[in-house]
Amino acid sequence: MMAKYSKNIYEQMVLAAKKAYPNECCGILVGKKSEQSEIEVTEIREAENQFQGQKAVHFKIDPLYLYHLEQELDPRGLEIVGIYHSHPDCPAILSKEDEKYMVPGLEYVIMSVQNGEVVDVKSYRK
Ligand SMILES: [Zn+2]
Repeated sequence: MMAKYSKNIYEQMVLAAKKAYPNECCGILVGKKSEQSEIEVTEIREAENQFQGQKAVHFKIDPLYLYHLEQELDPRGLEIVGIYHSHPDCPAILSKEDEKYMVPGLEYVIMSVQNGEVVDVKSYRK
């Protein structure tokens, strides 16, 4: 089951991936989740890749940033529904680490960026 998102949101994610290249980009998918666990993405938030060191192969989002974002979204009836990140010069498949840290119920969008262009986008859920 794939999350629903508009072409505009898709383009924003692609732009973020291209901009961060050759490093990984990462960000938050914001939206709504139905009782049937259907996800609708209404906006995205770029997050700073806090990983110190090889930013091309890892990403890390500040937990405090997520906490503040949740507090901001809650009164608007929105929530964090997923995470997007890019794989520079690697396929859009989950790395061992991605798999290990996946939170059940969240949508994970991975973009493969080759030579600065997004060539593949895939979504995963645990
Ligand atoms: Zn990854």
